[in-house]
Amino acid sequence: MTEEIAVVPGDGIGREVTPVAVDVLDAVGDFEFVHAEAGDEVADEQGTPLPAETREAVETADATLFGAAGETAADVILPLRAAVDSFVNVRPARTYPGVDAVQPETDLVFLRENTEGVYAGHEAELADGVTTCTRVVTEEASRRLAEYACEYAPEGFTVAHKANVMRVTDGLFRETVENVAAEHGVETDAALMDALAMHLVENPADYDVVVCPNLAGDVLSDLAAGLVGGLGLLPSANIGPERGVFEPVHGTAPDIAGDGVANPAAAVLSAAMLLEFLGHDAAGERVRSAVEDVLEDGPTTPDLGGEATTRAVGDAIREVVR
Ligand code: ATP
Ligand code: MG
Repeated sequence: MTEEIAVVPGDGIGREVTPVAVDVLDAVGDFEFVHAEAGDEVADEQGTPLPAETREAVETADATLFGAAGETAADVILPLRAAVDSFVNVRPARTYPGVDAVQPETDLVFLRENTEGVYAGHEAELADGVTTCTRVVTEEASRRLAEYACEYAPEGFTVAHKANVMRVTDGLFRETVENVAAEHGVETDAALMDALAMHLVENPADYDVVVCPNLAGDVLSDLAAGLVGGLGLLPSANIGPERGVFEPVHGTAPDIAGDGVANPAAAVLSAAMLLEFLGHDAAGERVRSAVEDVLEDGPTTPDLGGEATTRAVGDAIREVVR
C-alpha cells in the first residue's frame, strides 16, 4: 500500500528546503505526497496560520514533513505536534566529516518530553506585576517518554533533571523514568541539567542519549546544535503513537530566505528520520549516508563555506541516493 506523506513547507527557507526533501523521498520510495499550507503567508491570506485542511492532512497522513513557520510558529507547530499526539521530540546532534565544529566529538541524541513541563501553557497574571507559570509533570507522560527511550537506547541513557530543587515535579519525572528503565533492564545515569550543560560543552563524547523534561530538552539540544557547526544540519522528529511530524530544527532564516542558498541537509535528514519511523530503515540509512557523502565531498551551501545553491546540493544528494 502506498504510504501518504503530508508536506507542509510553511514559510521562509521552509519553502526552499522542503521540496528537496520531498524529491529525495520520491527517489527512494513509493509515496503519495499531500501538500498543505501553514504559517505566516497563509495566515495573511486565510486569517489562520493552520487551516483546518492542513490539520486534517497531518491527522490522516502516515507521516508529515514540515518546513518552518515564522511569526506564527507557536500557533503552527504546537497544534501539529498535538495532532499526532507527539509525546517525544527526538533531536540528534552530531558532527559530519568536512564540517567545522566547536566539538568534533559530538554525537548526541536528545529525547525531549513534548507535551508538558513549563510549556504546558498554564501561565497567569495573579496581580499587577505578579505572574506565575504552572509546571505540569505527569507519571503518564514521563512513562511514555521512558518507554520510548528504553526502545531507542537499550544500551542505556542519561536522565537530565533538577530534582534537587523541583523535588515534586522533577522528582516524579526522574523516579518514573528510572523505574521504567529498571523494569526494562536498561541502565541509566542521572545528571543535574545545569551541570550537564557545562559537561556537554566540555566533554560531549561522555554522553550519548539524553532524556529530558520539555524545557531542559529545548535548551540542551540547542546548546548541542552550537557544538556541531550550524543549524542547517540538525533534523528532528516529533513522534506520536501512530504518526510523526518531521522537521529541521532551524526556523525560517529570514536573512537568507528567497536567495535559494539554504542548506537542505537538515530537511533531508529529517526525511531520513521519517523513513525510519515508517519502517524503511534501509532507505533511511541510504539517505543519511548520501547526505554525509555530499557534506564531505561537496557541493555545499554558503553556511558551510561553499557556493552551491539549495537545488544543486539537493541534486547531488539525489544523485548519490539513486
Ligand atoms: P525563526 O524566527 O523562523 O526561527 P530565525 O531568525 O531564528 O528564524 P533561524 O532559521 O533559526 O532564524 O536561523 C538562525 C540563523 O541560522 C540564521 O542566520 C540563518 O540564516 C541560519 N540558518 C538556519 N537554517 C539554515 C539553513 N538551512 N541553511 C543556512 N543557514 C541557516
Ligand atoms: Mg529560530
